[in-house]
Amino acid sequence: MDNVVSYFSGGPAKIPNEVLEQVSRDVLQYGNTGVGVLEISHRSPAFLAILDNAITTIKELLDVPPNYRVAFFTGGGNGQFSAVPLNLMNRTGKADYIVTGTWSKSAAIEAAKYGTVQHVLPEGSTFMGVPDVSTWKLDPDAAYLYYCDNETIQGVEFATRPVPPEGVPLVCDMSSNICSRPVDISKFGLIFAGAQKNIGCAGVTLVIIREDLLDAPRSPHCPVILDYAVITNKNSNYNTPPVYAIHVLGETVSWVKRQGGIEEMKNRSDAKSKLLYSTIDSSQGFYVNEVKTENRSRMNVVFTVGAGEDRNKDLEAKFVEEAGKENLKALKGHRDVGGMRASIFNAVGIEHVRKLVVFMDKFRNENS
Ligand code: PMP
Repeated sequence: MDNVVSYFSGGPAKIPNEVLEQVSRDVLQYGNTGVGVLEISHRSPAFLAILDNAITTIKELLDVPPNYRVAFFTGGGNGQFSAVPLNLMNRTGKADYIVTGTWSKSAAIEAAKYGTVQHVLPEGSTFMGVPDVSTWKLDPDAAYLYYCDNETIQGVEFATRPVPPEGVPLVCDMSSNICSRPVDISKFGLIFAGAQKNIGCAGVTLVIIREDLLDAPRSPHCPVILDYAVITNKNSNYNTPPVYAIHVLGETVSWVKRQGGIEEMKNRSDAKSKLLYSTIDSSQGFYVNEVKTENRSRMNVVFTVGAGEDRNKDLEAKFVEEAGKENLKALKGHRDVGGMRASIFNAVGIEHVRKLVVFMDKFRNENS
């Protein structure tokens, strides 16, 4: 066993080593400013260049059309659960929510404070995949259609983008799979993503918004720091933005670009997730993932030891403990669902996934 830690955290998650080295040097001395990046003014030319680099790189990587704006917010994903209805719900007072897991459920609960939340999926839908479109109820008068592209806790990812009725903007939480596959931005009204999984560290949330939505009739109670028009029109520099988190984000997306861009990230994610799912599926029921095949997440691979009445939580605890001793860290499933979760965001190299599947086979042989 070597000393290299393989880190499978669901977030905050692995940041590329190259980026960590760069941004830690920048803490002590940033460029020729004479001070560290944590100390520079948010109005300084140095920070304006950081901001510009982050926004330009995002636009380039994700092929953001000219009628979209890229902005940075604080408040994380949860902040956006409020910002979305506060900014966009007033047009008709109601919005459609596709609830496929914990995070879209939380977003729907928050939005219900500000207007009518309508559930698109039939009652009793489990979080084991996206139900067939034929069962959906979509309202052409909804102010927007909301969904979460990848449910980080349940490991459920949309195989294809939902299609809203004509004129209804599509709003998406891409916190845990942004920059992991190509996305046609022109099909969205708004995309948001907390940075702390695929594009940096906690403290900043990316928002990509179609320009015309900046004129949507917002709630009179919308706090200024959640106001899409205010923050965007002030170039994400209305109040003191999270300077360091934006720098880390900029360096991380620049790393993605150097690695070959989004297509390369998609190929890597496909390869990493296939390796894990094939290990689970060939384990003769020892490891189980019950997510509908087409919705199995390429970012968060969840699994249990056995399932139903045969589930063995003692062995799951033993798995996490023994994996940890072999430097395979942060494999414990989210406290809401238990079991195991291997989060394999962009910065987790396939060599770590290879180590994990070797361990999984060994553990199965020793314990079945
Ligand atoms: N959406 C998704 C998909 C998430 O995984 C998370 C958790 N990191 C959130 C929203 C909530 O984000 P935050 O903790 O930044 O509020």
